[in-house]
Amino acid sequence: MEPRIIPREEHGISRKQISPNALRTLYRLHDNGFIAYLAGGCVRDLLLGRTPKDFDIATDAAPGQIKRLFRNCRLVGRRFRLAHLHFQDEILEVSTFRAAAPPPDDEETVEEGHNRPPRHLKDEDGMVLRDNVFGTPEEDALRRDFTINALAYNIADFSVIDYSTGLSDLAQRLIRPIGDPFVRFTEDPVRMIRAVRFAGSHDLVIEPAAWEILCELSSTITRAAPARLYEEMLKLFLLGSAKPIFTLLESSELLDALFPMLSKRLQGNDDLRETLHNNLECLDRLSRKELPSSPALFLAALFGPGLEQEALARHRDGIPHQQALDATCAILLEELCKIVCIPGRVGGQMRRILALQPLLHRMPPRRPSSLAGRPDFAEAMAYLYMMAKTGEKDKTALEWWNLFLAEAPSAIPSEPPADGAPEKRRRKRRRRHRPTPPVAG
Ligand code: ATP
Ligand code: MG
Repeated sequence: MEPRIIPREEHGISRKQISPNALRTLYRLHDNGFIAYLAGGCVRDLLLGRTPKDFDIATDAAPGQIKRLFRNCRLVGRRFRLAHLHFQDEILEVSTFRAAAPPPDDEETVEEGHNRPPRHLKDEDGMVLRDNVFGTPEEDALRRDFTINALAYNIADFSVIDYSTGLSDLAQRLIRPIGDPFVRFTEDPVRMIRAVRFAGSHDLVIEPAAWEILCELSSTITRAAPARLYEEMLKLFLLGSAKPIFTLLESSELLDALFPMLSKRLQGNDDLRETLHNNLECLDRLSRKELPSSPALFLAALFGPGLEQEALARHRDGIPHQQALDATCAILLEELCKIVCIPGRVGGQMRRILALQPLLHRMPPRRPSSLAGRPDFAEAMAYLYMMAKTGEKDKTALEWWNLFLAEAPSAIPSEPPADGAPEKRRRKRRRRHRPTPPVAG
């Protein structure tokens, strides 16, 4: 298929929307005789009038040539070498055009013995294990996941290049895998999560035939590496569209594969579903306002209500409350980590957010200033804020604490939310006295 080239006058991308570092990088590559494209999600976002999260560059310069051109370059990646250009406030990814995996007949599979290391490698089920061959600009576009992610912006003449049906799919707001959806979701099951993420966050629709296959293959998501799934989880839940994404995870049954315990608990439990939907809506509001929202808070939003219920049941059987909570958290985290690798530090922080709740609920609280100085207090307040939408007890506590924080902020030594901050740094919190802002809806 001939690529469609949309000249500068016929598309809405202006250089003003592109990060100055990315522009300079594109020009430098071009001036040195290389092809230089903006590629992937940033072109999609610019065409949609959204601010791209990052600007990725694709070029025919080999990694070594990129390194020679840019002093701030570091080559990274084992599966595929690519260049990271380090600027003061951003890191740009510059990758050499890559080829698509060959058609199934010529593939080298794990079982076959070869003397030289294979450049493409799939396991017996068709999942790509290695994929590192340089290619043409077209091959590079067609190996990408979705047509709308395969568009390029050419710095040579400021045109947009569409090697598939990205532009018409974008106009119809469709997420369509490039090629056979069954093959593409099998090669890399994480693409199913990406499809759901773009649908939820960009208000797009997964093309119906691809959606059907996604639902059929959803249980295979567990074949992806648990550490990678954790990274994807953060993008699903912390970027302001957790609620619509959760609905799609549930209807595709990806939720069942990722979090079987949660999915089981949700069956026939509409109250819990309503609480979770509400929590995720609050999480989205916090993310959009850039108020406390962290990996541990998303875990608490999703699993906290169930954990609290279970801990309460154990407490009624005579186990001290904190001990009951510790035990339920430990069971959940052990179960979760088999599929999605939650760092121990983040799991511990979720437990502390939940452990603080009974102390926040006690009216009036004991030694509130000291409570407010605890690590994780800001996140514990954010959790209280979520739960106050549906719970009367939480509402009373939230009102009390908001009043307290508004009246005596200087008395409260507390940290801003530690979005993945290491434990060591958090222990020094008493040196800086920063008030926790009241959390209002
Ligand atoms: P955003 O950065 O807004 O989350 P994005 O589409 O830019 O979305 P990235 O993870 O930054 O996503 O990836 C950049 C590009 O790399 C994508 O647009 C897509 O073309 C390609 N890509 C990323 N992940 C995959 C994948 N699993 N399979 C095929 N292509 C992929
Ligand atoms: Mg991106």
